[in-house]
Amino acid sequence: MRSGLSLRDVVVRYGSVAAVDGVSLDVPTGSVVALLGPSGCGKSSLLRAVAGLEPVEGTVAWDGISVAGVPVHRRGFGLMFQDGQLFAHRSVGGNVSYGLPARSAVRVAELLELVGLAGYESRAVATLSGGERQRVALARALAPAPRLLLLDEPLSALDRALRERLAVDLRAALVATGTTAVFVTHDQDEAFAVADRVAVMASGKLLQVDAPADLWSRPASREVASFLGYEAFVPLDSPAAAPLREAIGARPSPATLALAEGAFVVGRSGVAKGTVRGVSSRRGRSEVRVDVDGIGVVTALGPVGGRWAAGDVVELAVDPDALAVLDD
Ligand code: ADP
Ligand code: MG
Repeated sequence: MRSGLSLRDVVVRYGSVAAVDGVSLDVPTGSVVALLGPSGCGKSSLLRAVAGLEPVEGTVAWDGISVAGVPVHRRGFGLMFQDGQLFAHRSVGGNVSYGLPARSAVRVAELLELVGLAGYESRAVATLSGGERQRVALARALAPAPRLLLLDEPLSALDRALRERLAVDLRAALVATGTTAVFVTHDQDEAFAVADRVAVMASGKLLQVDAPADLWSRPASREVASFLGYEAFVPLDSPAAAPLREAIGARPSPATLALAEGAFVVGRSGVAKGTVRGVSSRRGRSEVRVDVDGIGVVTALGPVGGRWAAGDVVELAVDPDALAVLDD
């Protein structure tokens, strides 16, 4: 028997359009899976189908038993959304204890500590920052110890720095409580930070399901690679790919080589040359748009404070971690 959530050939239709088109996925007990895909690809529809909020074709099962016909509130699944939907007129403690069968001050205190808000019990919800609200929403969602927690872009309304911190804290809270979870996001970094496995979705279908490191180093297709942030693709057996092949110890073959930002690094000596097209700075690093013969314009990384002008020819070294071979 399979433990946890299993989906088989799940379809969600709105009229004649299949927003979710034949998804099969397993989320074993105690694991966290991220559903990653662009806006409109069907992530929320799939989550709603699991929750019991949409009619489905195919099978949604828990521990091998179909939950078809089991109403939303009897599934034992928790939900958390982008807007945490807190009760504005209750205190923080009142929000968290709402999810508890028997109200227990000890349990509320434990949950608040778990989400980094120890001692916040009596604070009014209106006095909290956006990040604090989502922490309270998470504590409330975890309070009844749901057998499955469904999270729909819970960090998307927060600014970048906060999102990154909360992603780490969210994973820690899920792991500490052993919570089985499906986490929906359109942000690759967030998916990689939160989940044990990432399911990449496009146009209602799953393209690949893998652990973050495997997904990054072995994207199954150009579509997956592009969505992860690979920005250029060259035939592995082309002359321009020679220094890249060398960096990863690959032999020429009919496969495709994918380059992520930073596959080239601007330095004093290199294995290739590029012509600078533009320079910008992100998080203290220089991003240099360089045109490389036979590859095209790609984003190379450079040292802080480097000065380049359009038209300069620069030496490029290779970072093998930003390369992946696709077996087309
Ligand atoms: P995502 O969460 O990945 O952004 P959604 O599941 O919300 O995607 O939507 C998938 C597709 O289904 C979109 O084209 C959307 O417009 C459509 N859709 C979502 N909900 C409904 C609905 N209630 N009625 C009709 N179409 C819908
Ligand atoms: Mg959505």
